[in-house]
Amino acid sequence: LVSKDFKKEPTVLNIKGVKIGGKHIAVMAGPCSVESRELLFEVAESVYKAGARILRGGAFKPRTSPYSFQGLGEEGLKYLREVADHFGMLVITELMDPRDLDLVAKYADILQIGARNMSNFRLLKEVGKAKMPVMLKRGMCATIKEFLMAAEYIASEGNYDIILCERGIRSFDTETRNTLDLAAVPVIKNSSHLPIIVDPSHGTGRRDCILPMAQAAIAAGADGLMVEVHPRPSEALSDGDQSILPSDFEVLMKRVRVIAATL
Ligand code: PEP
Ligand code: MN
Repeated sequence: LVSKDFKKEPTVLNIKGVKIGGKHIAVMAGPCSVESRELLFEVAESVYKAGARILRGGAFKPRTSPYSFQGLGEEGLKYLREVADHFGMLVITELMDPRDLDLVAKYADILQIGARNMSNFRLLKEVGKAKMPVMLKRGMCATIKEFLMAAEYIASEGNYDIILCERGIRSFDTETRNTLDLAAVPVIKNSSHLPIIVDPSHGTGRRDCILPMAQAAIAAGADGLMVEVHPRPSEALSDGDQSILPSDFEVLMKRVRVIAATL
């Protein structure tokens, strides 16, 4: 169902007027975690002014350590909805557990399935039954075929509103957090009609790599970006090292527009 053999034309999602896929570049930006209402307002205002129309932020966080900040849960979801509505943005946030589906669906416009859950087939089937868009992130050890098969799980339950997200895969180099596989973009474009966006934040783990990789992703044909932004990265409760400043995000958006216009 997700293959081009099944459907030739690119899938274009239209979520409350925001289009994703085709010739539309969708930018999702915000903090890694929803930390507080104030922080979310501050980040949302800056990324909205720079041109982002989709607000990201985790309320349920998949942390490596159970002792790290786990997210604000429903309180975080409420802030996301309130702040996004204030600016007229969409909300994308991660769903980690099928038991939270109704709760997250109540506040979000797009359900995010994180890299760690790409192979959680039970979760994939549940979001496949949901009547709302899903963004599926590539598992850190998943081949492109496995990634597309995970999307197939969602589609096979009747939900075709799927966005794919390349977010880097594990490799041997320790200079970057993950190895951002930009070749996945043209490869997936050749075999699937689904939109694919790129997350240079988790893909590299390094603030100094975000701008160049965002530009490269758009040049490679990506349908959008997911970027972590924080006004005081050293104080961030998660992923501060890979969060860019609002001023850098503004530069990123300008450069992305220039590149997109030449395609
Ligand atoms: C995220 O986007 O918040 C996240 C946890 O990313 P990933 O699932 O790609 O690690
Ligand atoms: Mn993060």
